[in-house]
Amino acid sequence: MRIAIVGGGVMGCATALALAGRDADAIVLERAVPGAEASSAAAGILGAQAELHGRRDDGDARLFARARAAWAPWARELRDATGIDVGYRVSGVLRLALGEADRDELARDVSWQQSLGLRASLLDARSAREIEPELTPAAVAAAFFPDDAQVDPPVLLRALVAAAARSPRVTIRSGATVQGLLVESGRCIGVRLDDGELRADATVLAAGSWSSLVPGLPASLPPVRPVRGQLVMLDERPPRVRSIVFGAGTYVVPRGDGRVVCGSTMEHAGFRKEVTAAGLSAILGGAVACVPSLGAAQFSSAWSNFRPHVDGHAPLVGASELPGLFLATGHHRNGILLSKLTADTVATAILGQL
Ligand SMILES: Cc1cc2nc3c(=O)[nH]c(=O)nc-3n(C[C@H](O)[C@H](O)[C@H](O)COP(=O)(O)OP(=O)(O)OC[C@H]3O[C@@H](n4cnc5c(N)ncnc54)[C@H](O)[C@@H]3O)c2cc1C
Repeated sequence: MRIAIVGGGVMGCATALALAGRDADAIVLERAVPGAEASSAAAGILGAQAELHGRRDDGDARLFARARAAWAPWARELRDATGIDVGYRVSGVLRLALGEADRDELARDVSWQQSLGLRASLLDARSAREIEPELTPAAVAAAFFPDDAQVDPPVLLRALVAAAARSPRVTIRSGATVQGLLVESGRCIGVRLDDGELRADATVLAAGSWSSLVPGLPASLPPVRPVRGQLVMLDERPPRVRSIVFGAGTYVVPRGDGRVVCGSTMEHAGFRKEVTAAGLSAILGGAVACVPSLGAAQFSSAWSNFRPHVDGHAPLVGASELPGLFLATGHHRNGILLSKLTADTVATAILGQL
């Protein structure tokens, strides 16, 4: 059985490995190199609880918690298979309240999450600073989510590619642009490439923000659109910040070795990959407002990429309306968090239908 996968980001690579683990052969078709786009650019927060802020949806909360729970065993599995440590750390998240209105909102988040059995607490300023001494004195309180975690996305993508290279069932073709789906008698039977056709028992659309640009998709599929995010890497020596901190429209993700990723913007800018003055100013201003000592950290680098967003829809995962075509796209801000769960769901859906 052969499965063609369009796109070699975290969704495409993880789905290929999940299929290989179930004795199917997968070919990942990547127009550039695996991890060329959003997946290596992400901050790597596994923010199952921090990301629920303001949306209090029980279904999302359960899905995110399941996705986060898949990470510890997956990180171990990848390390055992490749020797690569993907930087999985349960560093916890502190979401700061910088005023009374923020505190009331966080109190509602925390009590809702507690009612679902998730570990969360509302800390006063002193208790928050006991966990993270570098926090701004302007914080009046913080929600603490001790089970939220992180990985290092560029290293994750290296590990996925290394695991794929060791698997006799996975092939990654770099520089292979999918020009369209092959559809015959109402069924997707593979893809069209620059140099010919590739026939497959099933095809997975995992082309991130470019998913809607692949010709041949069912008209009913909601469009996936890019939402640009800019990120900044600081180098803090010695490392002082330990927890992930959200606040002032920003997040700060210390890797533990002095690297600190700060982000991010949410912009509808088409596929323009600029890092802008306004973006840098907002990110750095927010980061230093939350953790003043970061003002002395060295600027290291900055980049941007595109979150695949589906307006008003959950991510597109599983079977599509076109027989033979499966979806693993549209994960917006949480594609790293959801990657392993998505890969397993899609692999199970494909093998259940063939
Ligand atoms: C700034 C930023 C910060 C983020 N932070 C986090 C975070 O902290 N936590 C989290 O969980 N998520 C985060 N995300 C979201 C996460 O990165 C994405 O949801 C996830 O990486 C999407 O993975 P993907 O495989 O769908 O897309 P991508 O990684 O973009 O991969 C799609 C691939 O498809 C290829 N492709 C496209 N069209 C074709 C074609 N026609 N033929 C062949 N190949 C094609 C592309 O070259 C690309 O490599 C962040 C995203 C951004 C931009």
